[in-house]
Amino acid sequence: MRAPLSGWTRAFPAIVLAFGVARADAALAVAFGPREKAQVVIVGAGLTGLTTAYELRKAGIDVLLLEAAPRAGGRIQTVTFADGVHVEAHMEEYWERSPAYALLKELKVPLLDDVAHSSVRIGGKIYPYQGEGDRDTYLGGIFSETEREAFLRWNAKVWGLHERLVAAHGGGKALTDPELMELSKLSFAEFVRRDGLPEKVSEWIRVTLEPEMAIEWDAVSALDGIDEMRLFLDTPEAFGEKNYHVKGGNSGFIRALMAKVGPERVVTQAQVTAIEHGAEGVLVRYLHQGARYREVRARAVVVTVPLYHLRRIQFLPPLSNDKRKAIETTRFGAYVKVHIRIGAEAATLWEPAGETLLTLLSDSPAGSIYDATDFQKHGAAADRYLTLLVHARFAHEMLGMSADGMREHAIRSLDALFPGAGAHVRLVELFVYPTAVAYWPLELGRSRFDGLAAELRRPEGAVWIGGDTTENSHSEGSVQAALRMSKEIVARKAALSKPLPGRAAAPR
Ligand SMILES: Cc1cc2nc3c(=O)[nH]c(=O)nc-3n(C[C@H](O)[C@H](O)[C@H](O)COP(=O)(O)OP(=O)(O)OC[C@H]3O[C@@H](n4cnc5c(N)ncnc54)[C@H](O)[C@@H]3O)c2cc1C
Repeated sequence: MRAPLSGWTRAFPAIVLAFGVARADAALAVAFGPREKAQVVIVGAGLTGLTTAYELRKAGIDVLLLEAAPRAGGRIQTVTFADGVHVEAHMEEYWERSPAYALLKELKVPLLDDVAHSSVRIGGKIYPYQGEGDRDTYLGGIFSETEREAFLRWNAKVWGLHERLVAAHGGGKALTDPELMELSKLSFAEFVRRDGLPEKVSEWIRVTLEPEMAIEWDAVSALDGIDEMRLFLDTPEAFGEKNYHVKGGNSGFIRALMAKVGPERVVTQAQVTAIEHGAEGVLVRYLHQGARYREVRARAVVVTVPLYHLRRIQFLPPLSNDKRKAIETTRFGAYVKVHIRIGAEAATLWEPAGETLLTLLSDSPAGSIYDATDFQKHGAAADRYLTLLVHARFAHEMLGMSADGMREHAIRSLDALFPGAGAHVRLVELFVYPTAVAYWPLELGRSRFDGLAAELRRPEGAVWIGGDTTENSHSEGSVQAALRMSKEIVARKAALSKPLPGRAAAPR
């Protein structure tokens, strides 16, 4: 779909005819400088920023996105190797009950689906995935009958708690239910331990959960763990949630959103440094192309940068003490992502008897292993690409290493799982994330459902803050935040259309 005409392009039909709408806006921005006013400025053009922009555009609200990087997408980025094989630099998959999935469907982005569970390695032994989504076949491949029954009892209890949590937390409210509040004071590890589950069952829970959260299960509250565990539970609908990959790579999601929002509404290389806000609206200052400070006035600003970047933006007047405390006490789990091109002749190592063991949650220094070539044609030399998503303590072990050290460590880790694989490795690429996704540390008394988190989600005058790091650790949180913030802004639409003050009068 073509972008609707902006004020600029309506005024300059000849340029529109010559260049097309988006390029005309870009050409005009070069000629006259970037825009100085918008109804709503959105800081960050990742999934949260673009979804917020899309929702606001649907309601007829004028937006301008300021993005520090030279590209939109943030932690969504598909990269392509010389032989044409593409892999995900950051996020991989979307879960069925996530609003991100509903958005992908709405935008008609082509998807590939996959089952919720994977092969797992527990106590050094690999249990191959089996059952094509059938619960009892899958569980029977890992557990004895006694273990299976213990798991299902625990599953029923956790699903019940999860449903109560959803009901109590609707709309992002802080919790008041005393039993659920108790669960925010206990670690998820302790919560599982108290049920006296067989060792293999509790290990399965740990090995399934920790790669999702990029942090150890004893660092987070039982409540946050229960919320994450939802993806893998047996529920009245299905055994775990299906997950989806974007056909051709996740950047297709970003392209679809950009096409709806209009690329002319996104200013890249625009590093926001300060936000002044008051009754008259906001003044957003940014460093453009690393060289020139520019200012934009707006009625409202939506800040979608992850909390660790938020610490680098000045707010005048400063954010409330509780918001600052919420930001300062949120922590981040680590990932290292290693893409390995490996000769196709090695595939028998992870495809014994012709059935693949991947995706494998390995609970080893190799982390979770995906076959990126599972979803696409193999490379020119029919090489395969394995992705190691190394999480939590295993990622921390790697963070201090040089790139050479990380490569050697990753190859050794793969070889330890599939002996002989290391000799077939042809190429390694690394993406390192010391602050990959948010968690709310139990040791600081935090939970994603606590009062501080609710305070952070509450708008402060004309300033909204939201993204995955204000909700949960995934793309689901990004879209949840975007939907919540855009709904609240649309409800104030009348106030957004009042004329903005001119260049001289900064709103204070
Ligand atoms: C390795 C990895 C694997 C993951 N796997 C999954 C997965 O499989 N499934 C899933 O659901 N989620 C996954 N995630 C999480 C998912 O990537 C994020 O939840 C989601 O992409 C976050 O989008 P966002 O827009 O909220 O933040 P971001 O994508 O971080 O976007 C924020 C944007 O703000 C910009 N910015 C920062 N500071 C400024 C500034 N001062 N001025 C202007 N712009 C600024 C940044 O450049 C960035 O583009 C993964 C994350 C990582 C790192």
